[in-house]
Amino acid sequence: KRKIVIAANWKMNTNLDEAVELASEMLFELSEIDSVETILCPPFISLQKLKELFTDTRIKLGAQNVFYEEKGAFTGEISALMLHDLCQYVIIGHSERRQYFCETDEIVQKKLASAVNLGIKPIFCVGENLEQYQSEQTEEVIITQLTRGLSGLKLPDILIAYEPIWAIGTGQAASAVEANEVASLIRRTFGELFGLDAAGVLPVLYGGSVNADNIAEYVSKTDIDGALVGGASLKSSQFVSIIKRVA
Ligand code: 13P
Repeated sequence: KRKIVIAANWKMNTNLDEAVELASEMLFELSEIDSVETILCPPFISLQKLKELFTDTRIKLGAQNVFYEEKGAFTGEISALMLHDLCQYVIIGHSERRQYFCETDEIVQKKLASAVNLGIKPIFCVGENLEQYQSEQTEEVIITQLTRGLSGLKLPDILIAYEPIWAIGTGQAASAVEANEVASLIRRTFGELFGLDAAGVLPVLYGGSVNADNIAEYVSKTDIDGALVGGASLKSSQFVSIIKRVA
């Protein structure tokens, strides 16, 4: 059975002091739990401090973005080369980056390749918007995002998060049954690209209005291995409850 993964995406929230406080509260509550892979993704500016805080603990760190070139004249960008001794994971392809920062599937593919090459595990996000959902295009959208994003990669060590855009920050979570159908589709598609063995161990997460009351139902499903949590990861009590529900 695959290990449960709960990842926190803090998005553009917390300054350094707030991040350290939040992370310390979580660490205090979660230090004994090893049955759940717990990953915090704070803003870049807090990675170094949280890395120090989490040394010799079970909590892992991730970044929220990465640029695909390794170094050079790319003002304002952060590369996988710069991240690889700071964190083990990186969120790539989040819908907010696709929407507000014009990230295409081609850019997402380059970012995935760059992270994988440097040994950082991507949390690769896919998901349809409301209009696509209502016009029953979910399957097509997910397959396209997956095949384009993963093209050219060789058996990547990766996690995939299904995040329907209409469920993000809305309180309108996808039903566990629906989310599991898409998680199964993700696993099948991954299997077609990289083989059944790789698909069998692929962690597939659900994201979109996850909280302590709905998490257990998601992870009870056959193809959902955990969650990528936004809003509820900014309150230590809520995030800790989510993890304790599935530990
Ligand atoms: P919410 O949990 O706030 O809906 O955000 C989900 C998300 O986008 C995680 O990446």
